[in-house]
This record gives sequence, C-alpha cells and structure tokens, in this order.
Amino acid sequence: MPYDLAIVGLGPSSAAMAITYKRLNPNKKVCIFEKYPVALRKLSSTGNGKGNFTNDNLSPLIYDNSEFVSQVFGENPKEKLLLFIDSLGLKYFKDEEGRFYPLSLSAKTITHALLRELSSLYVDIEYEAFVEKVYKNEDGLFVLNTVNGSYTAKSVALATGSINYQSLGGDGNMFVSLKDFGHTVTKLVQSNIYIKVNEKAITKRLSGLRFNARVYLINDGEEYYHEDGELLFKDNALSGIVTFNVSNRLARLYKKGLDCNPEIVIDFLKDQDTEEIVNYIFNSKNVYESLYNIVHPELAKVICDNYGHSNKEIVQNLFSMRFTVAGLGDIENAQATSGGIPTTELKDTMESKIVDNLYVLGDLVDTDAPSGGFNLSFAFLSGIKAGESLE
Ligand SMILES: Cc1cc2nc3c(=O)[nH]c(=O)nc-3n(C[C@H](O)[C@H](O)[C@H](O)COP(=O)(O)OP(=O)(O)OC[C@H]3O[C@@H](n4cnc5c(N)ncnc54)[C@H](O)[C@@H]3O)c2cc1C
Repeated sequence: MPYDLAIVGLGPSSAAMAITYKRLNPNKKVCIFEKYPVALRKLSSTGNGKGNFTNDNLSPLIYDNSEFVSQVFGENPKEKLLLFIDSLGLKYFKDEEGRFYPLSLSAKTITHALLRELSSLYVDIEYEAFVEKVYKNEDGLFVLNTVNGSYTAKSVALATGSINYQSLGGDGNMFVSLKDFGHTVTKLVQSNIYIKVNEKAITKRLSGLRFNARVYLINDGEEYYHEDGELLFKDNALSGIVTFNVSNRLARLYKKGLDCNPEIVIDFLKDQDTEEIVNYIFNSKNVYESLYNIVHPELAKVICDNYGHSNKEIVQNLFSMRFTVAGLGDIENAQATSGGIPTTELKDTMESKIVDNLYVLGDLVDTDAPSGGFNLSFAFLSGIKAGESLE
C-alpha cells in the first residue's frame, strides 16, 4: 500500500507539515524518512541550543524573494506560528530584542514536543533511512529509494534542508532528484557566517575582542546594507551576530553571480557625537592618550600603529575602519544557505508547479533571512501551509 504522504527528512518543516496534515486528515498514512538515528538535530542546535524559533518582527520583507514568502505567510504569520507552537503545549517567552525562545531555554524542548505530537498522530518515522532518489513510476506514484528498500507514495514532500552544516542536515542529494523532475537550482552560497577579510595584521591583533559597532557592507564604493550589533574579531575574519546578518546580504550578492568588490566598514563609535569626538582628538595635546580614553586599549594601539599618520586618519578609522572582503566563512559552519529551488517554480502552497503532488519545504527553497528566528519561522510556516493544502 502506498503512503498518502511521504516526507524526506525530519526537520521543523517536515514535522510541521506532517502534524498539520494528520490533524486535518487523521485516516491518511504518513511516513517520514530520516537519514540519521536522531531527528531534528539542526533544530536542537539553533540559537546556541536555546531555540530562537521566531521573532516579533516577522515580516516577509526580511527574506530574499519576499513576494513569494509573503504569499506563503499570508496575514499574521507570527500569530499563525505561535498558534501552532501553542497547540504543541509549548511555553515560550520573548527577549528584549523580540526573539522568541521556549521557556526552558532549550531547543530540545521544541524537538520533544514535535516528536510527541507526531507519535500521538500515528505518523510513521523511519530512522537511518537515507533517501537516495525520488522519482515517479508508470502508475503515477512516487518511488523513494532508501538504503533500506523502496517505498511508494501518492504525494511527496522534500524537506532535507540545504547544504550548509552537513553534519546536522542536508547534503544536496535531493537537489539531484529535483533536477531530474525538471526543477532548476540557483547558485548556493553559504550565509549567516563570519566574513573573511584581507587585513589580517589588524584582525589578528584584535582577535577575541567584541565591540558594539555599526557594520556597513559596501559594494563598488556604495553602501549596500548596514546593521548595528555585536562584532567579534577572529584571526582573519569578522564574526558576531552583526557580521552574520551582514553576511546574509553579501551571500545574496554573490548568489546573483554579479561581479562585486565588497568592503566592510566599521563604525566603532556609532552612538557618539562625531563632532565632539573629532574636536576632542584634534584639540588634544597627546592624541594617543586621548584615543586610549575613548576605545579599548588594544583598538587604540592598533589605530595608532597602523593609521596614526595624522589626526584625520585616526578619526577616520574610529568611525569607518575599512576591510576588503576575502570571502565568506566555511559552509560547514554556516547557519544558512542563500539559494535553492527558485520560488518561481513553486506555488504558494509549496507544491511544485512542474510535478503535481510534489512539495518542497524549508531550507531547500531559494529564500533566506538573517538570524533572529526567521529561518525557522519559514521552515515551520512552509510546512504548515503545505499540510493545510494537501488533500
Ligand atoms: C548551527 C545553526 C544554528 C541555527 N540557529 C537558528 C536560529 O537560532 N533561528 C533560526 O530561525 N534558524 C536557525 N538556524 C537555521 C534553521 O536551523 C534552519 O533554517 C531549519 O532547521 C531548516 O529546517 P528544514 O526543515 O528545512 O531542514 P533541516 O532542519 O535541515 O532538516 C532536514 C532533515 O533532513 C534530513 N535529511 C537530509 N537529507 C536526507 C536524505 N537524503 N534522506 C533522509 N533524510 C535526509 C537531515 O538529516 C535533517 O534531519 C540555524 C542553523 C544552524 C546550522
């Protein structure tokens, strides 16, 4: 007997679809195939293990391909997601920056709640069932070739995540099956990751230091994006949440495949009165001493040693220290991938426009967002939407 619905991968998008579908259609047979012996590993690692699952400012505009996301989300997406979370019995809170976490401050609480609900709805789960290929047979049924044998299903959802952080999720295998079905795949670029820069003499000396800074992404000499937040220096890179979010915009630029010459500019004194600081430096008897009064001693030393030729240069580097981009960090450490199945090839129900009854969910889709709970929100809401629409 074929399954009514087979889902490849057990992540948040897949769990949301299975739960929504089974609640509406209790008699349908649903099976999820997961390659690992443990499910929802990526979800359990999110938000440093704390599970930042959505955000007060959940707006489609934050996402790449926002028009499509807007159609998937419909009206009041945050409320819809919170209703789903409520229905699992989860308790949560919102921090000062609008990020939602489970009250337990453990992402595993969400994982347990999802698994509990899947079990109570009698959704079958096949663990250690790597799906090698999905295709349609002559009878119009989907065939899933797994390491443990073949299964058939009337509808299939692919929810295997993208190619970042492969140790916790996808490996790009399902992109191959999707291409065989006639889909295309955009360029895939690691996102929400540190940014490597060429000025290693500077970054090495500041390595390990954190600053509350404004970080600008400059492309071809023009401002492309900026954000305020915590910046962390690494030996040869810029990191920290603010850099991760800037990397999201940089990844979108790289994804488009355009020739770009990105630079990062850092304002270390974003909240200070520029004129006052300029006057203070220019009127001081000992400019180096004054610098020590303003910023972290190591930053003061770095500025003096590298940019101390004139007061003008010192001030410039306090408010706009420039770094040329050497590339994005390693894909294995990236929290997201920019790119995937083009949104133009999907209906807003997440069903393929090319193959009937084939659904594509979560990170497999060409949309992404900065950190803050937005990527999990899309995973959940895409799964809920698909589960509501499948008959
Ligand atoms: C370290 C880290 C931290 C993050 N923190 C946050 C955060 O705080 N907030 C936020 O919103 N987002 C965060 N994200 C992003 C978020 O985790 C993802 O957007 C989300 O998990 C995507 O869900 P998904 O259902 O598309 O796929 P995934 O969660 O990637 O799940 C896919 C599942 O499919 C399985 N699978 C893959 N291929 C196969 C196959 N061929 N056969 C069978 N099974 C297969 C995988 O093992 C996996 O269990 C983070 C990501 C990472 C890596």
